[in-house]
Amino acid sequence: MPWCEPCDKFYNPNTVSGDGSCPSCGTKIDAPAVVVASNRIPWHFWLLAAAAGIYLGWRAVQGVVALLGLF
Ligand SMILES: [Zn+2]
Repeated sequence: MPWCEPCDKFYNPNTVSGDGSCPSCGTKIDAPAVVVASNRIPWHFWLLAAAAGIYLGWRAVQGVVALLGLF
């Protein structure tokens, strides 16, 4: 969320000027929200997400094998 110190105000990313400055006082506010979001996600989050994906995929395979074993 873009925050302007001098104005003491939050701004919607869409209302911030194209260059990322405050529309009322012109202070440089923040990097574009998308860049900030991707920088805040640590690498170990993606490692965990990948591990969870592999684990769930493996569980899905096991589930299908178990179901096939019933017939
Ligand atoms: Zn401002």
